Amino acid sequence: MDLFAHQDISKTQIPEAIEVINPATGEILAYVKKTNAQELEEKILKAYKAQKQWANILAEERSDRLMRFFVLMLEYKEALAEIMTKEQGKPLAESRGEILYAASFIKWFAQEARKVCGDIMESKVKDQKIMTLKQPIGVCAAITPWNFPSAMLTRKIAPALASGCAILVKSASKTPLSAYALELLAQKAGIPKDVFMIVNGDSNTISDVFCESEMIRKLSFTGSTEVGAQLYAKCAKTVKKLSMELGGNAPFIVFDDANLEEAVQGIMASKFRNSGQTCVCANRIYAQSGIYTRLCEILQKEMQTLKVGNGLEEGVNQGPLIHKSAVLKVKEHIEDALSKGARLLSGGKEHKLGGTYFEPTLICDVTPSMLVAKEETFGPLAPIFKFDTEEEAIAMANATEFGLAAYFFTQDYKRQWRVAESLEYGMVGINTGLISNEVAPFGGIKHSGLGREGSKYGIEEYMELKYLCLSVK
Ligand code: NAP
Repeated sequence: MDLFAHQDISKTQIPEAIEVINPATGEILAYVKKTNAQELEEKILKAYKAQKQWANILAEERSDRLMRFFVLMLEYKEALAEIMTKEQGKPLAESRGEILYAASFIKWFAQEARKVCGDIMESKVKDQKIMTLKQPIGVCAAITPWNFPSAMLTRKIAPALASGCAILVKSASKTPLSAYALELLAQKAGIPKDVFMIVNGDSNTISDVFCESEMIRKLSFTGSTEVGAQLYAKCAKTVKKLSMELGGNAPFIVFDDANLEEAVQGIMASKFRNSGQTCVCANRIYAQSGIYTRLCEILQKEMQTLKVGNGLEEGVNQGPLIHKSAVLKVKEHIEDALSKGARLLSGGKEHKLGGTYFEPTLICDVTPSMLVAKEETFGPLAPIFKFDTEEEAIAMANATEFGLAAYFFTQDYKRQWRVAESLEYGMVGINTGLISNEVAPFGGIKHSGLGREGSKYGIEEYMELKYLCLSVK
């Protein structure tokens, strides 16, 4: 099966189409047709009709079809990974990892589909039965980002489809090919085509139609806090249920009593995955004064092992950044920090390969007044701050409006619990830099969002709880 053989994708130019560009080479990979407002309204109506039938089939049957979808994703793993590396830039090994991660949500929610159940509660009135029923919310819409072109989709479509909802997804304009490939595989697995649809086009037009539609009862968004807040406001008129997976500014604290080698491995995994372009990337690294110099030395040495290049090439573990604007943001953070007294230990500039490649960069003596302390860099910049006490580290870590992921390394078991409780974040990695998997509830607090994806809680986001009061007098 040709995963590019989709009606909305063409290798030859179509008028007013979205150009999909390989960030490693600048080559145009494909043209994607834009969905206009009227076409989108028609698709929503189709989804509205199809959802009723989808919700009416047995949960076991929905589960079986999702399992077929999961198996197909594994079967097409190599092709899907290659599409992802070409349109997104991440190294092939990371793309393969993302396909497995994305598929894991399909399998997980295929299993969850059969576990949905309500309750019967003891009534306070004689001859009365109190029950709850869980029902699919209806037609849902999702808007997804470019940094995880497959996993951010399956984390939404899998619980939606498992619970009996229909879902329309606007994928990121920079990475629509992975999304269309998933749509084809879902159809091949027996998911009705009007129950899961990909749309693309002008983000304002599409989101306006989504937000204003009375037929769409839920919007799930992953992306920046700025856009998330706009969508939150736009959905007020139709009082939609919302899930918001927004920006982060993750602290990574290394205490004097940490295993330093393991802490550095944690930083490498958390900071440099996807060239630093993940919402859970360590953005601020806090090192306690006793290990500060040593940590900088070990990290600097470890960073020399990073090989920058085209993600399709063997041995490359850091690809290009997604766009020129991403390069400018990394440069801005470095220049601002150096102008305010930070020291450059390695990297610091665009890579000699040109394009959007950037050198893995390490700076130390970073302070809270610098931009990097306040904003997500979203690039391969590791800034090291120094602290003396646990209280100081917690105060600095919490001094942000974001609250997605936080990490810390310590071997003191009492401190592990104390610090974990004090960090104002939705997710905390303790002695690990990798926390994402389908079993765990993913999500943030404060300006990092609302709701949880994955885990046993993820399906609840796509269901309504109905209360039944039955008189049996
Ligand atoms: P973004 O600019 O907010 O874009 C995300 C999605 O929103 C894309 O599909 C984009 O469409 C669309 N969009 C952009 N402007 C819009 C508007 N005015 N109205 C409606 N939709 C709009 O974010 P990004 O740069 O792609 O992704 C990076 C951000 O996502 C970072 O802040 C990162 O932390 C966050 N993120 C969070 C999580 C999480 O789980 N919490 C996971 C991954 C990423 P176009 O592509 O067409 O512009």
